[in-house]
Amino acid sequence: MVLDTNTRVVALVGGVGGAKLVYGLSTILQPDQLTVIGNVADDFELYGLHISPDLDTVMYTMAGLANPTTGWGIEGDTWHVLEMLQCYGEDAWFRLGDRDLGTHILRTQWLRQGHTLTVVTQRLISSLGVKSRLLPVTDDPLVTMIDTVEHGTLAFQDYFVRHRWQPTVKHVWFKHADQAHMTESVKTALHDADVILVCPSNPVLSIAPLLAVPGMREMIEKRRAVCVGVSPFVGGNAVKGPAAKLMQELGMAITPRGLIDFYAGGLDGLVIDVSDRDQPLHADVPVLVTRTLMQTSEDKVRLARELFKWVGSITT
Ligand code: GDP
Repeated sequence: MVLDTNTRVVALVGGVGGAKLVYGLSTILQPDQLTVIGNVADDFELYGLHISPDLDTVMYTMAGLANPTTGWGIEGDTWHVLEMLQCYGEDAWFRLGDRDLGTHILRTQWLRQGHTLTVVTQRLISSLGVKSRLLPVTDDPLVTMIDTVEHGTLAFQDYFVRHRWQPTVKHVWFKHADQAHMTESVKTALHDADVILVCPSNPVLSIAPLLAVPGMREMIEKRRAVCVGVSPFVGGNAVKGPAAKLMQELGMAITPRGLIDFYAGGLDGLVIDVSDRDQPLHADVPVLVTRTLMQTSEDKVRLARELFKWVGSITT
């Protein structure tokens, strides 16, 4: 496969992990070559505002605004609104910065005026100077639900933020998935893609909700594009967050082979970290072994370059 400035790349992404690679890709591709399909199953309402944590993480990262320490939120943001809420006795368990709130206020207003999340997200991201497209996988409700041993069924943010992903997970499911529709923009992007990239995001909490939208899995399986993934594991563990703990609780293997099995024949190749080179692989799925930990901008760009070069060598 020859990769050039006409190659169209679709990235399937969750939050912090995937956003870092998307940033790298956005620096080596022309804006119209890259379309990012983002997770909305973490979305929720707080103080009457529609919050889209994963879309915002990707948007702020692509715009160069993200807080480099947390990976989410806006660099240099302040917390005056949250402090005032706490004055009134609010628990304020979900951290919303002052500037970040501007995004949620406008998103909510535009949604209430009847615009779709797709249109709203495009308006927000292009106002921040990003020319590539960021598409919510669906404009319909889709909610990650977590069945836990200690607290019964929790909505995603209750599990992830309020309980700091400590409860033991029995099962993960996606409320309203049956009634959700892929948007036309998502269908077109997947149809036209030459490369589909499964970013190093949480497979169960970030990528699985995308695949739960009816038609997504089938479109990816029937693709003409090369589909490759980047492992979110380094040294047999998650870089951050609950991916490894949760997958172990669900009886899944935290290995390259476990990941390839999870994506059930969907991957034509997998990028893994050098520290995982001795972990079980799949004989028939090619692997690129490299450094996948993205701590600096240079790391992100280097990984994106290596990945893009390697994809060109994969035959399907
Ligand atoms: P979240 O929704 O903000 O938790 O973000 P994602 O689902 O996109 O990403 C979480 C996953 O990203 C975790 O499993 C991490 O192990 C992985 N991750 C984070 N940073 C890196 C990195 O620099 N390299 C790799 N390979 N994985 C990463």
